[in-house]
Amino acid sequence: MPGLSFILDQIIPDTCVLCFQTQKKYSRHRLCSFCWADLHRIGLACTACSLPLPMPGLCSSCTKHPLVNGQAVMPLKHINDTRTLIHQLKFKRDLRAGQTLSALMLDIIRIRYQGNSLPECLIPVPLSWRNQFRRGYNQADWLAQPLGHALKIPRLTTHICRRHGPAQHSLSYHDRQIQQLHTFVLKKTIKFNHVAIVDDVLTTGGTVKALSQILHRSGVKQIDIWCASRALPPSIIAHRSIAQPC
Ligand SMILES: [Zn+2]
Ligand SMILES: [Zn+2]
Repeated sequence: MPGLSFILDQIIPDTCVLCFQTQKKYSRHRLCSFCWADLHRIGLACTACSLPLPMPGLCSSCTKHPLVNGQAVMPLKHINDTRTLIHQLKFKRDLRAGQTLSALMLDIIRIRYQGNSLPECLIPVPLSWRNQFRRGYNQADWLAQPLGHALKIPRLTTHICRRHGPAQHSLSYHDRQIQQLHTFVLKKTIKFNHVAIVDDVLTTGGTVKALSQILHRSGVKQIDIWCASRALPPSIIAHRSIAQPC
């Protein structure tokens, strides 16, 4: 079933994707000015995993083992309205939320790649066949499609498949690490040196690490990671709530 905002979009095309207020003029981000201003953007951050930092560079974890050897590009912190947008995209089949998130991703990608080579292809993180069948679409691919179109970069959606396994939140940290190592299977060789993995949200980075292993084994040299949002460790969220009381 299409989401409420998608139905509203058919009846009243220029409604804000978050608060449903009618907008006076069309915005490609599909947000009113209030919801636009309320989004929590990532400012200075780790270049390899987008963890917010007080200055540009690598976080302590990526100093030892960088999440990717290319760039991590993510516009939003995974809190408040961003969580709503991701939820709408992931579980409510809300294409408008996907359009909002991909437009925000495109803005920051254009800035971050000024003077740098764009990836040669995009790899949306695949779902297992069972989850793809159940959901009917892959939210990572819904984000990758407009990005690929705008930047003229092909998407690879059949080169890697994902085995079905128990939901990650149901596993212990140890079991999750083991499961992720065997999650992805290479179906066709990838003949590109520089690729970008595309996903909706970066949490622990386990999925990216598992996918990167497969890609490096296939001969890929440089891997970037593009997500709509970055989950923050509890320590950062706790610090934020103390520093900025409501
Ligand atoms: Zn709004
Ligand atoms: Zn990092």
